[in-house]
Amino acid sequence: MKLSGEALMEENDFGLLHSSRLQQYAEEVKKVVEMGAQVAIVIGGGNIFRGFPRIKEKIINRIEGDYMGMLATVINGIAFQSYLENVGICTCIQTAIKMDEIAEPFGIDRAIYHLEKGKVVIFVAGLGNPYFTTDTAAVLRAIEIKADILLKGTRVDGIYTTDPEKNKYAKKLKNISFDMAYQMGIKVMDQTAFILGNENDLPIIIFDINKKGNFKKVISGEKIGTMVSK
Ligand code: UDP
Repeated sequence: MKLSGEALMEENDFGLLHSSRLQQYAEEVKKVVEMGAQVAIVIGGGNIFRGFPRIKEKIINRIEGDYMGMLATVINGIAFQSYLENVGICTCIQTAIKMDEIAEPFGIDRAIYHLEKGKVVIFVAGLGNPYFTTDTAAVLRAIEIKADILLKGTRVDGIYTTDPEKNKYAKKLKNISFDMAYQMGIKVMDQTAFILGNENDLPIIIFDINKKGNFKKVISGEKIGTMVSK
């Protein structure tokens, strides 16, 4: 699952992590783990990163800003790990930027080993490279660990024909092809992620993580959100 940083905060509360949200997501993950699903999570950093005005003003340049963003994902990952452990889930953090005291370095075999042991693996620091996003990291990690599906848990409940906040006739799409998502310039996930998903035939479901029980529903095969596939 890709859990975006902004799902961890309240509206416009940049820089903060919301305890009730972390708790809710931890409980959602627990339900799914109890069903026997293996869960790996790529966590975003937008909640911390996007609130920092010097980045918007371009006083901090792109590369440094991106490293700050990647470090923000580490903070979120550590926080979420604590909430998961608190509800009784065993976890492991793997990082794309080495920081031995905090997390294990990213490794495919070790990640799969942890998953098979029933641990939830939290991938932090994105891909470790500036100019990428955690959406792309999520697709790549999903391909690397041979995940069946990538779920993007976000604050919207899927892809619409147009912006539902601006157009009352906007319709939610249940299924959409990668080509279509690319042509429509869908913003809910970045385009590099869609291209990578398309090339490697990885279906992606975009769903509202804030609605209680949704994670379990998606894993159980209920048709919620929007599925993007070949
Ligand atoms: N980032 C990066 N390389 C990566 C992943 C993330 O440079 O591989 C930086 C980038 O600046 C990004 C920020 O970290 O904007 C936070 O990640 P993202 O925007 O994907 O978080 P989300 O929007 O999902 O909370």
